[in-house]
Amino acid sequence: MKEKEIVDVTIIGAGVIGLAVASKVAGKKRKVYVLEKNDTFGQETSSRNSQVIHAGLYYPPASLKAKTCVEGNRMLYAIGEKNNGVAFNKLTKIVIATSEWEVGKLEALRKNGIDNGVMGLLLLSRQETKRLEPNVEARAALFVPSTGVIDGHGLMKFFLQKAKDKGAQVVYRSKVTDIAKTNTGYVVETQEGKEKFDFLTRVLINCAGLGADKVAAMAGIDITRAGYRLHYCKGEYFSVSGGKRKLVKRLVYPVPLPELAGVGIHVTLDLDGRMRLGPGVEYVKEINYKVDEKKKPFFYASVKKFLPDLTLEDLEPEMAGIRPKLQGPGEKQKDFIIRHEIDKGLPGLINLIGIESPGLTASPAIAKIVGNMVNEVL
Ligand SMILES: Cc1cc2nc3c(=O)[nH]c(=O)nc-3n(C[C@H](O)[C@H](O)[C@H](O)COP(=O)(O)OP(=O)(O)OC[C@H]3O[C@@H](n4cnc5c(N)ncnc54)[C@H](O)[C@@H]3O)c2cc1C
Repeated sequence: MKEKEIVDVTIIGAGVIGLAVASKVAGKKRKVYVLEKNDTFGQETSSRNSQVIHAGLYYPPASLKAKTCVEGNRMLYAIGEKNNGVAFNKLTKIVIATSEWEVGKLEALRKNGIDNGVMGLLLLSRQETKRLEPNVEARAALFVPSTGVIDGHGLMKFFLQKAKDKGAQVVYRSKVTDIAKTNTGYVVETQEGKEKFDFLTRVLINCAGLGADKVAAMAGIDITRAGYRLHYCKGEYFSVSGGKRKLVKRLVYPVPLPELAGVGIHVTLDLDGRMRLGPGVEYVKEINYKVDEKKKPFFYASVKKFLPDLTLEDLEPEMAGIRPKLQGPGEKQKDFIIRHEIDKGLPGLINLIGIESPGLTASPAIAKIVGNMVNEVL
């Protein structure tokens, strides 16, 4: 019988997380594979988001989301400053309050941000907010200087190139269909077209995004008991056309509602200054990226209260992304899962599950954590 090929590290998924991880763990004479079911990298959630470099305001202190977001924020700006291919703009953001109740919430948000290590947060009066954003109606605002936007595709290309330079091999059109534990690692079965292949890997890293719970199940984990089952939560965007895109100079967010599955329909700008509203929050059963035009009045009403010059006709359906959420409808916020599964009797298996927002921001910091886990095994 033919001997199976042996690989040191296999990463499932070539989104921003899998690529960041590959760029970190490759090298040291390791044989590293990245397996991706699509034709190329970044075809799923990593290309369907707001591309915001988040500051780290919203997450509970000491959570993985808070720690990796705040650290990732600094790391992304450092990457952007050193690499021309990764464009970014530190646009800054304001979180605005439109009622007295929300004014109180701004102070709580500021305190949470400070506890998380977010620098430079400033509470602004109505007049100060008007000076920054003359077209925005607000009673008060929280100014967040470290928020920006980044070219997510450029970032993925940067991680991909770094991984390849360090010797990693990225295999497209290669879907992982089965995983079997052995004494020395994991036999990974992949399907490429009609053909099946398998090989042995000493370390297996699950960065499969929306498919991460299914991959964990393939490795023998009871995902319901472990709390790994994902809920799909769709976020649609509407773009704002013409001159209206100049209504704001920075990102404008509402105060988030308690346990909101997103951070509220907000106004973002991309690197070319295009304005969009979103993302919405809708739990769905299937992956479908169509934008429902009928939701236009809802998006308009959400933003109109603080951006009164906008009209319904300014909005066009744009795109949608799907959050891989551990938090089900009506449940409390849940943290990222980044776990070496040694205590489940699965040494060498590292699961990354529920990597929703702020995953893009957190990507280099998440890669650092995973890199340390791999160093403990190899
Ligand atoms: C609407 C929305 C807005 C967001 N906005 C922001 C934001 O502004 N800022 C921010 O920081 N974050 C944001 N996020 C979060 C961010 O986009 C994600 O955290 C990040 O992109 C997750 O990357 P990933 O690599 O884990 O997932 P993905 O990009 O989905 O990559 C996973 C990859 O795994 C592959 N895969 C799955 N199963 C298999 C298999 N069996 N075999 C082989 N390959 C497989 C998939 O094809 C895919 O390419 C947003 C997310 C959404 C949905």
